[in-house]
Amino acid sequence: EAKQSGRNTYRFFEPAMHASAMRHLMVRQALQQAIEQEQFSLHFQPKYRGGSHQLTGVEALLRWTHPELGEMSPSEFIPIAERSGQIIPIGDWVLRAVCSQIRHWDMAGVKPVKVALNLSPLQMRTDLVNSITSIVGEAGIAPQRLMFEITETAAMKDVERSTRVINDLQALGFDIAIDDFGTGYSSLAYLAQFHCRQIKIDRFFTSRLDASDHSGRAIVSAIIALAHALQMEVVAEGVETEEQLRELQALHCDQVQGFLLGRPAEASKTQGLLEASNDDLFGAMLRNGPAI
Ligand code: C2E
Ligand code: MG
Ligand code: MG
Ligand code: MG
Repeated sequence: EAKQSGRNTYRFFEPAMHASAMRHLMVRQALQQAIEQEQFSLHFQPKYRGGSHQLTGVEALLRWTHPELGEMSPSEFIPIAERSGQIIPIGDWVLRAVCSQIRHWDMAGVKPVKVALNLSPLQMRTDLVNSITSIVGEAGIAPQRLMFEITETAAMKDVERSTRVINDLQALGFDIAIDDFGTGYSSLAYLAQFHCRQIKIDRFFTSRLDASDHSGRAIVSAIIALAHALQMEVVAEGVETEEQLRELQALHCDQVQGFLLGRPAEASKTQGLLEASNDDLFGAMLRNGPAI
């Protein structure tokens, strides 16, 4: 029997699995120091009004540079932080950092844009509304300055709770966006129930606007029609080509975001963007560029 379980144990630790388990453990331990040692920072990616190139807001994206491991991708460390619960203090850090960035930009006198930040499904389970209210209140930031992005998958995990959290936050003046829309399993009835400000079409669908893919276009068109019928704004994520941008405009997509229009950038660079949009230099610059 001992021999049998020994063999099972051995089989469990196949080399590949062992390596990924070790990596997981290492990342988890490294995350422990990340907040204290100020290894986190935020990048900001702009969102633009579809046709006019008017800046409508920026999305805060977490960045982590570990002293030895280097630049770590959120797609690797966020899932680990979610499983360990570390996403709770990390999420609080992100919200505080966003608030202090807003104050900094306000004091610099740049255009007050709305800042969006991502919420993990685990954050939805704690006393989220209270912790948001207290952090934002302490920072002296108006709720109207913030938008929370909740993925469709996260919102659908516990529809009743999500609906409550979304309604409570919106009643307080915060905006809500449903992120990565189209990749989860929402029923249309639930989407109506969430009635939030924005729907962000996942970049998978945006990418299908290229290859004269008729079904891709039909899906995007249907999502936009549905969102508009529900009085929601639509943002297309991951716009990388002029062709995609033209298609989205033809389909009356309200806002666009993606590498074509602006990559996530550090706060100081983003401030330059906000300053430029202040005196509409940026708009003029774009008007003289490719006509879109
Ligand atoms: P997301 O919220 O859907 O963010 C969009 C991701 O797509 C970002 O990756 C962004 O850099 C990338 N992206 C933007 N435009 C383009 C494009 O044109 N082409 C391509 N290929 N990619 C584009 P990033 O920063 O690596 O973040 C990945 C995910 O990690 C985010 O997806 C979000 O779910 C999560 N995340 C990032 N920051 C936070 C955070 O502060 N808290 C939580 N809970 N999750 C976060
Ligand atoms: Mg997002
Ligand atoms: Mg997204
Ligand atoms: Mg995503």
